[in-house]
Amino acid sequence: MAAVYRIPALPTVNDILRMYNIRASKKLSQNFIMDPRLLNRMVKKMGNIEGKHIVEVGPGPGGITRSILGQGAMSCTVIEKDKRFLDSLEHLNRTCGHRLDIHLGDVLHFNMENLFPDNVRKAWDGDVPDLRVIGNLPFNVSTPLLIKWIAAISEQRNIFSYGRVPLLLTFQHEVAHRIIAPPTDPERSRLSVICQNYARCEYEFMIPSGAFVPEPQVQVGFVSIKPLVEPYITLPFPLVNKVVSTVFQGKKKIVLNSVSQLFPRKMGNLLGNRMLDMAQINPKQRPFNLRMEEFNKLCHAYNHILQKNPSFSSYVRNVSFDPNEDLVYSPPATEEKMIESNGSEKQKPSADLDLKTN
Ligand code: SAM
Repeated sequence: MAAVYRIPALPTVNDILRMYNIRASKKLSQNFIMDPRLLNRMVKKMGNIEGKHIVEVGPGPGGITRSILGQGAMSCTVIEKDKRFLDSLEHLNRTCGHRLDIHLGDVLHFNMENLFPDNVRKAWDGDVPDLRVIGNLPFNVSTPLLIKWIAAISEQRNIFSYGRVPLLLTFQHEVAHRIIAPPTDPERSRLSVICQNYARCEYEFMIPSGAFVPEPQVQVGFVSIKPLVEPYITLPFPLVNKVVSTVFQGKKKIVLNSVSQLFPRKMGNLLGNRMLDMAQINPKQRPFNLRMEEFNKLCHAYNHILQKNPSFSSYVRNVSFDPNEDLVYSPPATEEKMIESNGSEKQKPSADLDLKTN
């Protein structure tokens, strides 16, 4: 059986780079993995891929791609931004029985909704489809991509229109740690809560910086992300994202100070306290100590207040963002837009604001 998938002897990744005269682009943060044993170990983390469809994001010179094809994938769809790799990928395609589907493009703007036959689709609560995603992307792409894909998981869009497709992606070690950090871990952040709300996230193994050419300054974490059938917090992604992102504004602050920022200044303390009361959370708790269940209650408390006062939904204070978690939450409007020219705040809680817990 394995012989069917044997790929004829090919030049090494190193030879490919030399043959096609390709130098790693700093602009695209290119760091290539050369060691075939490491490449095979990464691909094996997808389990048995014989007969499965695989998407690889950022194949570059094709080290991971070759291992995918060698391990018997039925097809491998690659999305690569740098056209210098097209010739070597097309050469690989000819040697592997045309199982490669090559796309030149930016994965951040690539919709995979109709890439595969309809019979690949599985019900969200059914089996995992015969489809996997793997990628060793630059860090400045992998984190925003993860957030986009988490939003897509929440709405079963893009590749997740095929079902609960598992992902395997590389991140800077510290970011990988944040993705999997449990409550009370000092690295617990909005990325932890947002990712863990929608997926089971595991740190598979660390890839030492010496495994890459050229060598990056940082260690790399290889992380698996398996979408959950049902998230802990079932409210819409934008609301969950807003509450979690706001709670982690200054994550060493007490939680009362951060949730108050969900509301216009004059009523922030009052409504922040009400929200915490409804969620039965001590106002002096620190955000990184909160468990998923507590975030669930916080989101529901905020949703309850919004139902009585829908105008708060567009309210946001001027907030600063951790560049490592870029795109986690883009504010829809600044506080200034909520203040009338005479300085009085437009938003007032309605007279019938019902802030009881039940
Ligand atoms: N997969 C190869 C490996 O492991 O050796 C290459 C890894 S290199 C870190 C990242 C690759 O992603 C490069 O080939 C780069 O051109 C590509 N890339 C960077 N940004 C991208 C984007 N937005 N969309 C698609 N590919 C991208």
